[in-house]
Amino acid sequence: MKKIKVDAHAKINLSLDVLKRRGDGYHELEMIMQQLALKDVITIEERNSGFTIDSNSEEIPLDTSNLVYKAYSIIIEKFNINKGIHIYIEKNIPVAGGLAGGSADAAAVLKGLNALWQLNLKEEQLMDIGLKIGADVPYCIIGGTALAKGIGEKLTRLNSFSDRHILIANPGFNISTAYVYNNLKLDKISDRPQTPAMLKYIESGDTKLVAAAMKNVLETVTLKENPILNGIKEQMIKHGALGSLMSGSGPTIFGIFNNLIDMTKCEENLKHSIKTVLSTKTV
Ligand code: ATP
Repeated sequence: MKKIKVDAHAKINLSLDVLKRRGDGYHELEMIMQQLALKDVITIEERNSGFTIDSNSEEIPLDTSNLVYKAYSIIIEKFNINKGIHIYIEKNIPVAGGLAGGSADAAAVLKGLNALWQLNLKEEQLMDIGLKIGADVPYCIIGGTALAKGIGEKLTRLNSFSDRHILIANPGFNISTAYVYNNLKLDKISDRPQTPAMLKYIESGDTKLVAAAMKNVLETVTLKENPILNGIKEQMIKHGALGSLMSGSGPTIFGIFNNLIDMTKCEENLKHSIKTVLSTKTV
């Protein structure tokens, strides 16, 4: 039986702006997405029939509600495939943290099945299928550094912003993405990301300029209700981070550091009080 391993990388938002609420309930977004070295590893094994899933994590569903099942079911239906699979998810990305772990896993399964069953799907086709699973999945297919518009599916690749030191801190409580969007007061946001300027800074590769300009309008909801997250941001800045921001709707906070020694000190300090603290890099 055939078997394949695929990496599923986490993402952070270097900026996140909500432009307007659409009639269909979705929001029109403008985000700069950045992939991290932090990753889950997905192993897909072909089986004669059925779908089974296993993981080292107790925090994700091991049934058909797992996002990877959606990816499998869309593919077998579209191509009339009469085969089963077993999937093992080595989960390293904090769950429900704004790091798109589930979307990354689903994107990895789409790519993996494309290779395993030689479906010859092009990147754009994989992205179209991915959008049926979730708004972040098309980005997870292309990865790297990208501008995302629409609900996140209109993507433009940007100059690579790789090899920057990133500290991730996740306090371990859940934040409902729907709650954050529903409580966002769009007309009251005064401090928005300056996306055109951010695009120039990314183009220039100047880490300090990028880090100083990072903004996420969803912080107006999540940080207000969870002051501990402000505390994490302050700790990161105190320890020398060039910038610190919440990713997605939270609660993960990340910091960009120039100096690895500063970052390690910050990591050790935060570990006393925060559930998951990880050092990684942009890729
Ligand atoms: P996003 O940034 O795209 O909003 P997130 O990082 O906030 O995503 P995920 O880690 O993708 O959140 O998890 C969201 C929910 O999806 C979890 O509560 C989990 O139960 C469910 N889920 C389903 N499949 C997966 C998976 N493969 N990995 C992680 N979570 C999954």
